[in-house]
Amino acid sequence: MIKFKCSLTGLCCKASPITLQSFEEMLVNFLAESMSIDVKIAPAYTIYDALSNQWIALSYTLYLNDDNKCPFLSKDNRCSIHNIYKPFICRTYPYVPREVQYLVNSELKLIIPQVVYGVSTRCPVIELHKPLISKYFEANASFIKEYMPSEYEAAIEAERARLVIVTLLSNLWRDGLVELVQKPPFTGSSSRFINAYSLLQRYNPRLPYILGIYSIVEKIRLAKMAND
Ligand code: SF4
Repeated sequence: MIKFKCSLTGLCCKASPITLQSFEEMLVNFLAESMSIDVKIAPAYTIYDALSNQWIALSYTLYLNDDNKCPFLSKDNRCSIHNIYKPFICRTYPYVPREVQYLVNSELKLIIPQVVYGVSTRCPVIELHKPLISKYFEANASFIKEYMPSEYEAAIEAERARLVIVTLLSNLWRDGLVELVQKPPFTGSSSRFINAYSLLQRYNPRLPYILGIYSIVEKIRLAKMAND
């Protein structure tokens, strides 16, 4: 069976802003700082915490530069952070989350992520394989797994990480440490944000290990020390 193979055009690094999970925002900022690269990152999906009167950011947007390229795309069209940490969405591309929602169940004090993945037709390889994809996609549920195994695996990993974050946040809610509201009444007040990962790490010091990012943080720290 034909398999997806990235043709390294770098188009996906120029296509649209990059969505980051909360812990990825921390890693990407840390990387940018260690490499002296300017980045613009803003909170994307947020949930309001009525106890602290602030918004908890579950995801972020990394904006493209003025020349419409990811700030980490090198002059020779390569990802300059590939060897240290490549964001999930870059690893899953062109298999990407098309819709991401977080359902907030106030009765159970539970946040449930709902993510729908799809294949981006902006990718030139997908464009080429389009007839084949449309032929098999509907007939065979495991088609994507066979067609693009690495990207599929990365998507599984991404959703596992997302689940860790919302599960721990739901636990904080049930412990009375946050009071989450999906759509609070407008009060004209706070626009303070806190990164969900940073908040959770206060209560779960082992979170970097749970997410498997401890060694990456260390790598970045060492790279930063080497550059200083
Ligand atoms: S982080 Fe790397 S792979 Fe992702 S968009 Fe930027 S340059 Fe491309």
